Amino acid sequence: MTPAAYAVLNLNALKHNLQKVRDCAPGAKIMAVIKANGYGHGMLRVAETLASAADAFAVARVQEGIRLRKAGLQNRIAVLEGFTCAEELDDLLAYQLDAVVHTGSQLGLLERHAGQAQIAVWLKLDTGMNRLGFNAKEFPEAHRRLSRCASVRQPVNLMTHLANADDMQDPMTMTQITLFEQTVAGAPGERSIANSAGILGWQAALTDWVRPGVMLYGISPFPDSTGGQLGLQPVMGLHSRLIAVKPLAKGDSVGYGCRWVCGQDTTLGVVAIGYGDGYPRYARPGTPVLVNGQRVPLIGRVSMDMITVDLASQPDAKPGDAVTLWGEGLAVEEIALCSDTIPYTLVCGVTQRVRLVEAGAGDNPLLRTV
Ligand SMILES: *Cc1c(COP(=O)(O)O)cnc(C)c1O
Repeated sequence: MTPAAYAVLNLNALKHNLQKVRDCAPGAKIMAVIKANGYGHGMLRVAETLASAADAFAVARVQEGIRLRKAGLQNRIAVLEGFTCAEELDDLLAYQLDAVVHTGSQLGLLERHAGQAQIAVWLKLDTGMNRLGFNAKEFPEAHRRLSRCASVRQPVNLMTHLANADDMQDPMTMTQITLFEQTVAGAPGERSIANSAGILGWQAALTDWVRPGVMLYGISPFPDSTGGQLGLQPVMGLHSRLIAVKPLAKGDSVGYGCRWVCGQDTTLGVVAIGYGDGYPRYARPGTPVLVNGQRVPLIGRVSMDMITVDLASQPDAKPGDAVTLWGEGLAVEEIALCSDTIPYTLVCGVTQRVRLVEAGAGDNPLLRTV
């Protein structure tokens, strides 16, 4: 018997998607973004799968980078939020992690740092995202200071981040790319601009390094397409099974708040998955769910451990039958649209209770539970 709620991870799809990045950005080096536990897929598992194919990894926090080093990963690893104190800078040096430098206090910490060890840095230019980075006016001085800093390996690398590259109509992306190119012109060092949307949508964003995240997991960064439509393969499938099937009469209400009322006699199915597993609380009635491979609509509110579906089209379904919440045959992008969110939050939000299993490990994927 399979566990109630489990996610199957297709690691071959990860490799396929990384190759797709190579095809889109020939000649560019790839910094595979595996922050937030590899977008919910398991950071170490993703890193080990891509270790020989990726040129570097990127994580958000120092602790994530340390975890990768302790697991034996030898690739270059960039910490996208950099460091906030001397202790974190010491950690970056000790574990040989690249630091993103985006604010004045980090310059001070680097300048005050004593010792022989050097750190590779990515100086971040804020070109309009208004999150991390020096603006174009501050940039030359920050660059000068880093270039003179004994603890910084030269040359300084240069990066920026796109704010709206998933909107192909927005001229802001070209404005950001142009501002970046103008501001860093003449400086030595490698350049990096593109996230997944930049890689798939904006030729001009393809510089020395690209930083794919969501597309590695087979997910489209664009609101109007799925990964499958872009030639990507979904890595995660989220599954469970029916635990109860019962008749429902016209006029019966279903679930908390009694918000869904049955319009005609039907059959109700209860599935063992809920927001306690990471299924979105705000999935609307009508959100598709696969029961025995066929689409049925979600009805009633999502609760912590269960959802309810209308089995009118599948009167023979019975407890124990297989249910897919997203994955092969049901794009996570579609579930995100039905839940007023983005697919990033869905895969990142799968909780500890859900067993992650790797596909393709012998006949039974559940033999390799991690
Ligand atoms: C998360 C992140 C990425 C990856 O973004 P995707 O949209 O998932 O491809 C790239 N660069 C930076 C700075 C990030 O924070």
